[in-house]
Formats: sequence, C-alpha cells, structure tokens
Amino acid sequence: MRLIAHAKVNWALSVLGRRDDGYHELDMLMQSVELGDSLEIRLDEELTLTLHGGPRVPSGDGNLVLRAARRLREAAGVAQGARITMKKRIPVGAGLGGGSADAAAVLLGLNALWNLHMGWQDLRALARSLGSDIPFCMVGGLRRVRGTGEQLEALPCGAPFHLVIVQPCAGLSTPKVFAAYDALAVRPRNPDIEAAVAALAQGDPAALARAMGNALTPASVPIRPQIAMAAQTLEHFGALRAEMTGSGSAVVGLFANAQDADFAWRQCIALWPKSYLTRTTDRGVSLCP
Ligand code: ATP
Repeated sequence: MRLIAHAKVNWALSVLGRRDDGYHELDMLMQSVELGDSLEIRLDEELTLTLHGGPRVPSGDGNLVLRAARRLREAAGVAQGARITMKKRIPVGAGLGGGSADAAAVLLGLNALWNLHMGWQDLRALARSLGSDIPFCMVGGLRRVRGTGEQLEALPCGAPFHLVIVQPCAGLSTPKVFAAYDALAVRPRNPDIEAAVAALAQGDPAALARAMGNALTPASVPIRPQIAMAAQTLEHFGALRAEMTGSGSAVVGLFANAQDADFAWRQCIALWPKSYLTRTTDRGVSLCP
C-alpha cells in the first residue's frame, strides 16, 4: 500500500484563550495541500520504519509513525506487524503538520491493512491522544478546526488555490511559540475567520488574501526574524499575501494563478532550498494507484 500524507496550511489562526489545563483554545481554518510525505506499508511480522530524508526526524521509537502504529495495535488488541518506508518531503517544525500527517496516514493505512474495521469515532479518539492535528489530517480538505483540534467542520472550497511555501530558517517548536505568545505584552489581533470562509467558498484569492492572518506571527517572528523577511519577499515576487502557517517557521504565499506561483517559486528556490510549489487539495491522505 502506498500513501501520500499531505501537509496542511492555516489560512487563519485565532487564539481565543488559555484553558486551566494550559492548552490554548483555538479557532483555525486549515486546508490540505498536495505537498506530502510518501509512505509504503507492507505486512510483516515485526513493526519497523525505514526513513529517507528528514535529517532532524527521529527514526526510532520517537517517530510519530511508530507511536501511532503501536497505539493502534494495542487499541485493537492484535499482534500484527508492518514494514513502513517513509520518504520525508514536508519540512520539519514548519507548522505544516508533517508528523501529524504521517501518523494519520499510518492509522488509516494499518486500519485497512490489518483488517481492523475501526470506525471514525474510535480512530479519531486514538488520533487525538497522539496529537491535536492528527484528526484533521485523517480527513483533510478545508475545515474549520476549533477547541484544541477536536471540533472539525467541513467547509466548501470554490477553487484550488496556488501556493508557494517557504521555510526560510530552522524549525520552531510549537510549545515554545505558545510560551512566547503568552509572554507578549499586547494580545495580537485575531484574523477575520468569517471573511476568510466566504472567500474560500467563492474561490476568490484576492478576498482570501485580505482576510487571512495568524495570531501567532508576533510570537514567532522575534524568535525567527527570517519569517517576516520571507513573507515580504514572497509578496515582492507576486504573492497576493504571505503569512506564517501554524506556529511557523514556514510561510505560505498565496497567488492569483498557477503561472504567478510558478514564477515566484523559481525566484524563491534560488534563495531558500526549502521552497515548494503546491496547491490545495481535498484530502488529508491519498492512496497512490
Ligand atoms: P504542528 O504544526 O502539528 O505543530 P510542525 O509541522 O510544526 O507540526 P512537525 O514537522 O510535525 O512539526 O515536527 C514536530 C516534531 O516532531 C519534530 O521535532 C520531530 O522531531 C518530531 N517528529 C516525530 N515524528 C515525526 C515525523 N514523522 N515527521 C516529522 N516530525 C516528527
């Protein structure tokens, strides 16, 4: 079985508050993109992972792929194994949900390959216990995600959007960015999510460019100033708007059409090796023929 685990971008990220348990209550618009990691999963006696690419990704027990597979095996009470080979393309610590996408692909893939017939409710609960973005990555497409990632509302998308994603610097740790957010003297403004929802439904990139925004940007930029520079550069190369995704450190440039995105990507790749030309897609995990 060959799968693509798709990255996600945040068109809008609002922080609503901090709960007593320390988690932040969020309201986000997330969408899957074609950029993704490839996974090949074969039945085997042992459970193993072979990793290609992703220099800062743990290849052993710390990898979310193995943690997800083990957790699924325990929950289902089976003793089967699998040989998993993964080619990592999604940049790490980028706010693109790479690890979450890989875990989502493994949960769906092994549920089928091991004939577990586990339903959505059980799979979602298991996914949530591993990471808050994994339930979104299992379904993907365009969704409004609320709470700490458990409330998923499917939304209509009027057209595919053309993007250039750049990671101009080292990755960022999500907890570190939230700590920096909590320490800000002034609460950043939240984006207008309703306006972004309408722009996405209409397939209108210019309206989406006006509405998109990320309340974590003022927390991430002082740690990685290259984020602000990459956003400016993407707009200089023709992006209608460029904004950080998730907690960074990747920046997403939104373009009016495929040609404009392609032109900008050719400029960006000369500056930053981690530059990706991609577009939105309607699924979180896809099966390769
Ligand atoms: P999010 O937006 O969900 O916070 P991210 O895109 O910022 O995620 P990831 O690329 O998922 O961050 O990586 C976060 C950390 O998880 C990394 O430090 C990495 O070492 C670890 N990790 C474990 N498994 C994986 C995996 N399969 N792919 C990427 N990172 C993984």
